[in-house]
Amino acid sequence: MKIAVLGGGITGCTTARLLAAAGHELCLFEAAPRLGGLCASSTIDGFVSDHAGGHILFSKDKQVLDFMLGALGQGNYHTTKRDTRIWLRDRFVRYPFENGLCDLHEADKFRCLRDYILAWHERRNGAAVPTNFRDWCTWRFGEGICALFMHPYNRKIWNVPLEELGTAWVEGRVPDAPMEDVLQSALGQHTAGYVHQAVFHYPLTGGFESVVHAIAAGIPAGVVRLNTPVTSVQRGADGYAVNGERFDEVVSTLPLATLGRMLEGLPAAVRTAFGALDHVSLRTVFLALDKSDAPPHSWLYFPDPHDGPQNRMTWLSNYSPRNAPPGKSSVMAEVTWYRERPGTEAETTEAVVAGLTRGGFFQRDQVIFSRCFDVDHAYILYRSGLEGHLESARRWCAEQGLHVVGRFGNYSYFNSDMCVRAAMDLAADFAKRS
Ligand SMILES: Cc1cc2nc3c(=O)[nH]c(=O)nc-3n(C[C@H](O)[C@H](O)[C@H](O)COP(=O)(O)OP(=O)(O)OC[C@H]3O[C@@H](n4cnc5c(N)ncnc54)[C@H](O)[C@@H]3O)c2cc1C
Repeated sequence: MKIAVLGGGITGCTTARLLAAAGHELCLFEAAPRLGGLCASSTIDGFVSDHAGGHILFSKDKQVLDFMLGALGQGNYHTTKRDTRIWLRDRFVRYPFENGLCDLHEADKFRCLRDYILAWHERRNGAAVPTNFRDWCTWRFGEGICALFMHPYNRKIWNVPLEELGTAWVEGRVPDAPMEDVLQSALGQHTAGYVHQAVFHYPLTGGFESVVHAIAAGIPAGVVRLNTPVTSVQRGADGYAVNGERFDEVVSTLPLATLGRMLEGLPAAVRTAFGALDHVSLRTVFLALDKSDAPPHSWLYFPDPHDGPQNRMTWLSNYSPRNAPPGKSSVMAEVTWYRERPGTEAETTEAVVAGLTRGGFFQRDQVIFSRCFDVDHAYILYRSGLEGHLESARRWCAEQGLHVVGRFGNYSYFNSDMCVRAAMDLAADFAKRS
């Protein structure tokens, strides 16, 4: 079969590699001058930066993890024990927050624990599960944890009122500590929480993008077409035309809404469904530091606006010994926005540096250089009611024989490992059909 794969991120590259290995004729269309998509990285003056915030390689899916690490090859990745904290003005709180109550001021600890227990009782007594994310957080964690962490942190990430978000996405995404863990942690006994990321991997050189290149190394020559934006996808009598060229099958990893705008003959309701797919964007601020004594942290969450506009900061130099030159270190701060950029790059960088130096993470004169990377599609915006629209858009694609996979390709809250899984499942489906 002649198959077009649209998009050269990790989903598109894995799909092309697996389908080519199965003997299909492949073409991969990528608009950018390079493969990588959301996994893209840059190396500047010996400092590595990921474009879409800090990326780590981990998976609960052993086959997928083996595939990704196997592609990189033994010795080409670095393994780190996760050490993640929340920064609250003057102190580190262990992550997840419910597992770190012992780190809070006494008054905050009492309030969080009391309200957590009250919420637990209300749930036990049958309190209805709220349908909007803000109230769901209160229902799940209680007022105290919400006031200090859940609400301000999520307001920073999503940039829309939390009442407008649904809850379908929270399963497996919002850590959910059992009551015993919360009680123990409030008493000062450390509980781990969220163990499946306890250890993670990262390419030794070249940043997270190296994972995509390692996978793409298995794609036969001549398949990848860089600098080739897809502008039209049209259904014909016996397959599809992509940019006017005929294919038997199309696998799209382009944002579903982008694909929807290219398709002709959409019924009005389906067009509305595609139009309702929305996203949050990201500016990553990378800072190269003349600092040799970076703390051992992997990444930090910043719920409080006082600590800067970033929701998260990664000590990227801790992910691989080759991520920064000897004696130097680096951080990446993630600032999200919805529809309107958060000012100029210089303004965002200044706000990040001001927040981080206020917290004492480094001194201003230790910043060697900074770079900003803007990523348009970073997070799916899970507004209430999105599921219905998504189902219509996906169903229509399935009826038209269009395969839509990947984070924005399928509008699923996927990490890169889940993208690889989706590509593997798709290749298995093709194998069954042929
Ligand atoms: C802030 C953040 C942190 C993350 N952290 C992690 C992490 O720690 N670990 C992890 O595993 N995952 C993480 N992820 C998720 C991971 O980045 C994604 O799941 C994965 O990269 C998505 O890959 P994809 O191939 O589906 O999509 P993309 O990478 O978005 O690929 C789509 C491709 O399509 C191309 N394209 C778009 N339009 C066109 C067009 N018209 N024509 C041709 N090409 C086009 C794009 O250029 C792009 O290359 C994170 C994501 C974000 C935003």
